[in-house]
Amino acid sequence: MRLDYLTIFPEFLAPLRQSLTGKAADKGLIELHVHDLREWANDRHRTVDDAPFGGGAGMVMTPEPFGEAFDALGIDGATVVVPTPSGAPFSQALARELATRERLVFLCGRYEGIDQRVLDHAATRAEVVEVSLGDYVLNGGDVAAVAITEAVVRLLPGFVGNAESLVEESHEDGLLEYPVYTKPPVWRDRAVPPVLLSGDHAAIAAWRHAQRLARTAERRPDLRHVAAALDAGDLDVRPAQPADAEEVAVLQRACWLSEAVANSTLDIPALSEDADEVRRGFAQWQTWVVRSGGRLVGSVPARASPEIPGQWEIGRLMVAPDLQGRGIGRALLAYAEAAAPAGTRRLWINTGTRSAANLRRYRRAGYRARPGEGRFAGTVDLVKDVPGADAIS
Ligand code: SAM
Repeated sequence: MRLDYLTIFPEFLAPLRQSLTGKAADKGLIELHVHDLREWANDRHRTVDDAPFGGGAGMVMTPEPFGEAFDALGIDGATVVVPTPSGAPFSQALARELATRERLVFLCGRYEGIDQRVLDHAATRAEVVEVSLGDYVLNGGDVAAVAITEAVVRLLPGFVGNAESLVEESHEDGLLEYPVYTKPPVWRDRAVPPVLLSGDHAAIAAWRHAQRLARTAERRPDLRHVAAALDAGDLDVRPAQPADAEEVAVLQRACWLSEAVANSTLDIPALSEDADEVRRGFAQWQTWVVRSGGRLVGSVPARASPEIPGQWEIGRLMVAPDLQGRGIGRALLAYAEAAAPAGTRRLWINTGTRSAANLRRYRRAGYRARPGEGRFAGTVDLVKDVPGADAIS
């Protein structure tokens, strides 16, 4: 991934060279290019701001230096990230989305912000994403750019040694993380919770999960776990009806675009299927759709394998991109697994070889990848034996 920063305070971005982002640059995982916007200011004073048209307090960043920087650096096809308190709230889901891009160009605003025409012009050449770090006002976009960079770069494959540690983190599945402890076992009369010293992995996992639920409920009731939403009837799972096909076809395209990016191909059947084909799929696969406030936000099909007796196959599991990372996918997967008929010996699912996030999710749900190519070109099959049943060889 290549990262460019346009700023009038390049020194604010020096921390990027430190720590793990610096190491990622040393390893060649990312390329960092910090540019002083004043290089493209043409007057003697290297001015980059002027008074706002229409009056009002403060100054506005002028368009010319940005335009010249765009021409010099070439932003075509890149993703231009504009930190601003008016942007979409930054989230783990957005970090994951940005981590799929090949090039990010950050425009670090100062003063009262950047002339709107800079963004409008950039949008004709690149994808423009306006991002807010939170509902407060910073002095400049540089600190926000550093924060966004850290959140994105640590998701790049190869950045964090232990991919599991990413999956376990706060916000990865809509819950906050459990409290963590290390040596010594007793410090200033405070003992580590005994269960963590018990060696009983199932008990530890159960304790941690309970802590995550309790913390999330107490500190962030807005991040209600999907299980709670399902219980409260806010998320409504039901068998797909023919009338759902239009919406499922749209959802399918939205979901498979990121697969297309990850796998560098548009040759993905899910991207081109129309509502009629989706409707025909309903006849071959038992399909469930999930709605939130009436909107279709997810879907999962499953069927008994026509070729392998005892194998329950889970098809295209989808969650609307803006709602990913809240546990809906995990809940739908559990729903489809629970629908397996008696006598099921193995669960099967398939995903793109380069769909790192899906592979992580399915492994975490107990699936193991089968060696070699999966059922379709560029995919991998994953299976999970049903406990207590004879394994399928
Ligand atoms: N007048 C602007 C407004 O009210 O939206 C605030 C400008 S602020 C003083 C200067 C710059 O800081 C912004 O252009 C933006 O780049 C950055 N900034 C401030 N707060 C931010 C936030 N919450 N998230 C991301 N960037 C922020």
